[in-house]
Amino acid sequence: MGYKFLKLASPSLRCGGLRVLSRQYSTTHDADLVVIGSGPGGYVAAIKAAQLGMKVVSVEKDPTLGGTCLNVGCIPSKSLLHNSHLYHMAKHDFKHRGIEVGEVKFDLATMLKAKENSVKALTGGIAMLFQKNKVQLVRGVGSIVAPNKVEVKGEKGVETVNTKNILIATGSEVTPFPGITIDEETIISSTGALSLKQVPKKMLVIGAGVIGLELGSVWQRLGADVTAVEFLPSIGGVGIDSEVAKTLQKILTKQGLKFKLTTKVTGARKEGNNIKVDLEAAAGGSKETMDCDVLLICIGRRPYTKNLGLDKVGIVLDDRGRIPVNNKFQTTVPGIYAIGDCIHGPMLAHKAEDEGIVCVEGIKGMPVHFNYDCIPSVIYTSPEVGWVGKSEEDLKKEGRAYKVGKFPFLANSRAKTNMETDGFVKVLSDKNTDVILGTHIIGPVSNKSLHYHN
Ligand SMILES: Cc1cc2nc3c(=O)[nH]c(=O)nc-3n(C[C@H](O)[C@H](O)[C@H](O)COP(=O)(O)OP(=O)(O)OC[C@H]3O[C@@H](n4cnc5c(N)ncnc54)[C@H](O)[C@@H]3O)c2cc1C
Repeated sequence: MGYKFLKLASPSLRCGGLRVLSRQYSTTHDADLVVIGSGPGGYVAAIKAAQLGMKVVSVEKDPTLGGTCLNVGCIPSKSLLHNSHLYHMAKHDFKHRGIEVGEVKFDLATMLKAKENSVKALTGGIAMLFQKNKVQLVRGVGSIVAPNKVEVKGEKGVETVNTKNILIATGSEVTPFPGITIDEETIISSTGALSLKQVPKKMLVIGAGVIGLELGSVWQRLGADVTAVEFLPSIGGVGIDSEVAKTLQKILTKQGLKFKLTTKVTGARKEGNNIKVDLEAAAGGSKETMDCDVLLICIGRRPYTKNLGLDKVGIVLDDRGRIPVNNKFQTTVPGIYAIGDCIHGPMLAHKAEDEGIVCVEGIKGMPVHFNYDCIPSVIYTSPEVGWVGKSEEDLKKEGRAYKVGKFPFLANSRAKTNMETDGFVKVLSDKNTDVILGTHIIGPVSNKSLHYHN
């Protein structure tokens, strides 16, 4: 038993401080397609490929399937958004509608349990779909060792899968804030913000993009004093129409969320139970320090390609850490494809899903077409925001002549009857041809007609 063997033994085989030695073994499978990552991009692609007659292996390193979206993203955040909204309605809104409910209280543990139950049901559902569609699941960290070979290091040892094609769907991870260590207890990322054991008194959110606004509103509705600090002069992140962003900011401010725009965070330190956060005007100049008991870092996500072995096959990442692909989602290596958060485009679940379907259809020789101008975006605050296509700012930048059609919910009978009159629908069209270039809606859930799936 040599040193080399000891080095190879999986860390998961350590227990109680003793290293349990186990012989590494290797199994081989033959596949038409190996999909690395089982997030919305990967699991949808795997199932679609199997339905198209391919022999598919899905490789996943985490204990549950579904990736960021189902485990620590879309699904748990929407559960907390929905239930905190109902609590907020019951506490602050029902009485204006003649509904008396007495003292309204909430039980955070039950709210978190409801979220966990949704996650469990949905991630378990994917496992069942894999079985039903004969997608073979191999658990462990997948790495590409040759253009037609994937090695998976898991609890069982190393498994090798020989395959005709490889699809990388390894997604993204939280972008860290330089100099601030996330402990997921008091200095948290979106992941920690989905499982706080108690409502913070004061929460500071770095970044007023989609995720910062959604999770900031959850904890503000539940009673936290929340301030979102944003480097940019407006909220809502990339692609939002600035008129919509201003309206959203006004409404959220009325609800109690505070904003500090054109402000940058320069550092943070823990002092007892307190966190001191240093701020400075984005353009430099005035400085201040704010206190909070929970600091939520939401400055974005970055592609995740760790341990994938891209260097072994000569795939070079672009300047933003993404895997370059052509319009068929092919990388520079024939037979290796990539989709979802680890390539270009908005980091959205439905974008990853559609890319997955289109990509495997392409592998089967079917036509490939993906229109990046038609990907809807949503912010699940209250009111919600949804848009697809260009904003007014985009069109001005392009110098394109356009018309604006706008209708306020204040003048909509159903919205008036529901007492939900904040917001509007705005349609931007080409001045000469009437072709619709962008649609932007800020308004109540019940009146919104823009749908997208997760
Ligand atoms: C708080 C939050 C809320 C969000 N809300 C929404 C929303 O409402 N709507 C929306 O559209 N999007 C939302 N998103 C974004 C959405 O979650 C992502 O766009 C989506 O999950 C991307 O899918 P993906 O398949 O590309 O990657 P991921 O979902 O990140 O999945 C990648 C998978 O690959 C696995 N993996 C990585 N490397 C390896 C390896 N080497 N071997 C084996 N497995 C590996 C990972 O464990 C993971 O399971 C949200 C994100 C967050 C954080």
